Amino acid sequence: MRKQVAAANWKMNLTYQQAEQLITDIINTPHTLAAHQRAVFAVPFPYLTMVADKLKGKNGAAVSAQNCSSYKSGAYTGETSVEMLQSIHVEYVVLGHSERREYFHETSQLLTDKVNLALQFGLTPIFCCGEALSIREAGTQNEYVANQLKESLFHLSADDLQKIIIAYEPIWAIGTGKTATSEQAQEMHAHLRSALANQYGQEVADSISILYGGSVKGANAKEIFSQPDVDGGLVGGASLKADEFVQIIQGLK
Ligand code: PEP
Repeated sequence: MRKQVAAANWKMNLTYQQAEQLITDIINTPHTLAAHQRAVFAVPFPYLTMVADKLKGKNGAAVSAQNCSSYKSGAYTGETSVEMLQSIHVEYVVLGHSERREYFHETSQLLTDKVNLALQFGLTPIFCCGEALSIREAGTQNEYVANQLKESLFHLSADDLQKIIIAYEPIWAIGTGKTATSEQAQEMHAHLRSALANQYGQEVADSISILYGGSVKGANAKEIFSQPDVDGGLVGGASLKADEFVQIIQGLK
């Protein structure tokens, strides 16, 4: 079975003390992860080692960075390289979140560079894609989102592609309380999987986890995740509440 993943995206929230409390509360809220399930915590850079230390020995749980530099190393003040992340044993990195594409002008080419570096240093990219409301209203979302994959991922070998997790996040559903219906999520996920199959073959496409993101919460996670091509979620707001996020973890297939 494909990996089923509940990924928390804490964004630029919480003080160190609040972050410590939140991860402690999550750990202390009873839950289980089966062998094919993962709970991933994309936390601010300064909290990566603290959260990783708290998660030590917890099977299936790991930390993720929310971004990395597109440069390998050197005179890039304020940047964080994938090599730095690797050296503190970070396993995942979220790339191409719509907030980074919009507010920090991240392009497909820049994301290609980040994806390549992440893979070179052994991190798993959680690659985000998704359309704005205007694109959904124009009915061109399937082509638009498949093109985002094509532009940043389709240069990869099949082996490397299989190391990636994809997160489909319709921008109109992020932080708005407006969730895509499970049918809308399934339709897009099936479309993306068939785009992957056309390029890499069905077996490769079937091995890739595609997460849904956009106002997932405890109450709707199980139903969305029950769709055949939805392999878990990338969760913003609801990942900041221990009981909500644990309910989301428990909603994984
Ligand atoms: C996100 O930022 O990745 C996200 C899905 O946010 P929210 O769950 O708050 O919509």
